[in-house]
Amino acid sequence: MSTPACPNCGRNNSVVLVSLFGGQIITAQWHCDACHTHFEAVRDDFDED
Ligand SMILES: [Zn+2]
Repeated sequence: MSTPACPNCGRNNSVVLVSLFGGQIITAQWHCDACHTHFEAVRDDFDED
């Protein structure tokens, strides 16, 4: 799984995985240490099909 860019600051080198499952099964929870933003992103393995 590749790390998504933070939707708030655009960085991905300080984004850490919080949970493999977010509010939906196709999303994972991430946290950006740079701006302390918590966000969800679609998991790579659900990007296609
Ligand atoms: Zn950020």
